[in-house]
Amino acid sequence: MTSRSGTQTVDVLVVGAGLAGLHTATLLAERGHDVLLAERRPSLAGAIRTTGIFVRKTLDDFQLPPECLGPPIRRVVLYPPGLRRPVTLDSDRDEYRVGDMAPLYAAAAVAAADAGVRMELGTRYVGRRADVYTLDGPDGPVRVRARYVVGADGARSRVARDLALDRNDSLLVGAEEVFAVPRSAEPPAFHCVLDPSLAPGYLAWVVNDGQHAHVGVAGYAHRFPDGLRRAVARFGASAPGLHGVDRPAEVERRGGPIPVGGLLRRISCPLGLLVGDAAGAVSPLTAGGLDPCLRLSEHAADVLDEALRSGRAAALARYDGAELRASFRGRLALRRGLAQVRTPAVAAAAFSLLRTPVGRAAARRILFGDRSFPTRTVA
Ligand SMILES: Cc1cc2nc3c(=O)[nH]c(=O)nc-3n(C[C@H](O)[C@H](O)[C@H](O)COP(=O)(O)OP(=O)(O)OC[C@H]3O[C@@H](n4cnc5c(N)ncnc54)[C@H](O)[C@@H]3O)c2cc1C
Repeated sequence: MTSRSGTQTVDVLVVGAGLAGLHTATLLAERGHDVLLAERRPSLAGAIRTTGIFVRKTLDDFQLPPECLGPPIRRVVLYPPGLRRPVTLDSDRDEYRVGDMAPLYAAAAVAAADAGVRMELGTRYVGRRADVYTLDGPDGPVRVRARYVVGADGARSRVARDLALDRNDSLLVGAEEVFAVPRSAEPPAFHCVLDPSLAPGYLAWVVNDGQHAHVGVAGYAHRFPDGLRRAVARFGASAPGLHGVDRPAEVERRGGPIPVGGLLRRISCPLGLLVGDAAGAVSPLTAGGLDPCLRLSEHAADVLDEALRSGRAAALARYDGAELRASFRGRLALRRGLAQVRTPAVAAAAFSLLRTPVGRAAARRILFGDRSFPTRTVA
């Protein structure tokens, strides 16, 4: 609805059409609410910020279009600096599939539109005054009065700032190159290199599922010796898992910040709430955020639905990051451990542990475990 002053009125304004925003918006529209989804990118196929590895629990619990998923991956190979004597872990189940993200976002946008979401592309959220939000779109500024706002605007959320909610202050940065690969007899595999000179505080990776290769690094921005871009190039020159594959001259480049401080404590207030990276909903250890963003979006939609139906903003108090955060203690401790791997010698020593039966079992639990992002408080 648009008033005479030109201000539109909606039930919920969702800012950001990543997976978190698309999923939250769709769930709310399916329950009959009037939802506007504003996304600053002019097309959902551009500026993709994720490798798109979906873990088994997500594939089991959410209906992702199978034609947008690559072949199943059952093998993980872990390498020390120098890449000698890697540790290969094989699962007897399909553990991962890499999403073809542009069509996957497009399919999510169709589902959102079918549910009744109005999506405005090329439209940036720029600020708020009380319950009126300003968007800057292709035709200039637009004002929207919303009963609730959802910040699904990523790791450096402006909505979080404007609602005076918590903000991510512990971030990695990651970047990768993506290109098609020829068919091969090698099984699809996820190769991870623990080398702080390439990926300080995290990992360098090659995912080669027999259709596409993703070659990337992530780490703490200030610790890359010669910058993130150069680290990707250095890694690409000797990356494992690409036997018989030539890097084409043209590659797709992806990258962005990854919050690893764990779920934020204050992620809601009477005006709205945060989902996905904006809420810090990323595993601090694996840096996986796709499963968390889908699960937290469901919780967010439940709470907002209750608030809209009851007319009581107090329902949003149930959306409490501090309570859910308790489940992250172990993963936060392991993240601190990974952050301490500062030299190749320490990484090599960590590999001695990994080669023991206990080390291999621990790695299998992390990489092939059944745990997923908690959205209910654990007892
Ligand atoms: C290089 C890299 C690789 C990764 N790989 C994996 C992986 O393989 N598996 C995994 O589980 N996780 C991975 N992650 C993490 C995962 O991608 C994220 O956690 C997840 O995509 C977060 O989704 P989101 O919707 O919260 O945020 P995003 O996908 O970042 O979406 C936020 C959206 O908000 C929009 N936006 C921002 N500000 C505004 C504004 N002011 N107005 C309007 N729109 C705005 C942005 O354009 C964007 O579309 C990776 C992250 C990176 C950086």
